[in-house]
Amino acid sequence: MRPFSYTRAQTVHEAVQALASDPQAVLLAGGTNLIDLMKYEVERPGAIIDINRLPLNFINDLPDGGIRIGALVTNSSVADDERVRTRYPLLASAILAGASPQLRNAATTGGNLLQRTRCYYFYDAATPCNKRQPGSGCAAIGGVNRIHAILGASDSCITVHPSDMCVALAALGATIEVEGPAGRRDIAFSDFHRLPGDRPELDNTLQSGELVVAIRLEPNHFAVHHTYLKLRDRLSYAFALVSVAVAVELSNDRFVDVRVALGGVAHKPWRDRLVEAEFAGVVADEEAFQKLAERLLSGAKGHGGNDFKIPLAAKAIVRALKHATSGRPQDQAAKSVQ
Ligand SMILES: Cc1cc2nc3c(=O)[nH]c(=O)nc-3n(C[C@H](O)[C@H](O)[C@H](O)COP(=O)(O)OP(=O)(O)OC[C@H]3O[C@@H](n4cnc5c(N)ncnc54)[C@H](O)[C@@H]3O)c2cc1C
Ligand code: SF4
Repeated sequence: MRPFSYTRAQTVHEAVQALASDPQAVLLAGGTNLIDLMKYEVERPGAIIDINRLPLNFINDLPDGGIRIGALVTNSSVADDERVRTRYPLLASAILAGASPQLRNAATTGGNLLQRTRCYYFYDAATPCNKRQPGSGCAAIGGVNRIHAILGASDSCITVHPSDMCVALAALGATIEVEGPAGRRDIAFSDFHRLPGDRPELDNTLQSGELVVAIRLEPNHFAVHHTYLKLRDRLSYAFALVSVAVAVELSNDRFVDVRVALGGVAHKPWRDRLVEAEFAGVVADEEAFQKLAERLLSGAKGHGGNDFKIPLAAKAIVRALKHATSGRPQDQAAKSVQ
């Protein structure tokens, strides 16, 4: 048993102060990831700051037609919200493809953003892992790496970000509002999660003492042409091997805006805006879908056990684009790989 202190923060300011003043402190939201990490002794916090009483359980309309989702709104409440379902169905669909109803009832928006990787070695304290223990090595390189990255990996870490919700947020171009000792600031979603480089222990760009307050989404034209496709080993209760969030705006069968975010393939939800921009004005047909998949995966590299992910991702992108452009989004139930 490792002793730790427990504090219940009543205000965001109080939580920031407590977090900033103790490097051993961590925030507790739904606890669905943190408590597991503590049981496996991957996380050994000296202090737990419970943020569940903070006034961050809201979904508000914004004057520009966008929406603001508080960090403590549960995944179930986001997916069930009528405004989210009608204006951001891609987000609802991605959330419903994740975990189980019980977990989604407890898991929060902030916690989902900050959940840690599912690399087997990260959870096994007996093996080397640069993310868990910087400088110890990476057991997945040359080890069992079926679930690992094909894009953006480094010699230090080849793991992937596990969230479904975040893949949709990447496609929708969300903004993350954070508060820390220096006050409030916005982080563009694409800048929130990191690639591993030589600092794989850092998952994101939060500064010391900062917590997530809310997520903002702009109004968009993706309510009709969108889809979230998740491919995994089992039909439910499994993380993505590959997932694709597609949001499309069409005019006369040509792409006005096409966004493709990939999950299960990199240390962060993967999106390449330069490649997407090449397809503006292009006829949205099978040939374009194939080319887009090819361009998005041009830098993909397997590590032995996960080589299959490259052709799988290519097919998933094409399929997701077909569903999105036809206005028939993928059913929320994810598909099995077999
Ligand atoms: C069996 C199982 C299956 C799952 N399957 C899926 C799946 O298929 N897809 C998927 O996307 N997810 C899946 N999950 C993960 C689940 O979605 C996450 O555990 C959950 O979203 C974390 O939210 P939480 O509120 O419980 O976070 P917590 O466990 O409380 O916290 C997680 C981390 O976030 C930090 N944190 C929490 N809130 C904030 C904040 N506001 N600001 C800064 N830091 C914060 C905590 O300090 C901690 O480090 C699964 C989990 C389990 C256990
Ligand atoms: S892939 Fe990353 S998380 Fe997994 S063992 Fe290597 S360093 Fe650790």
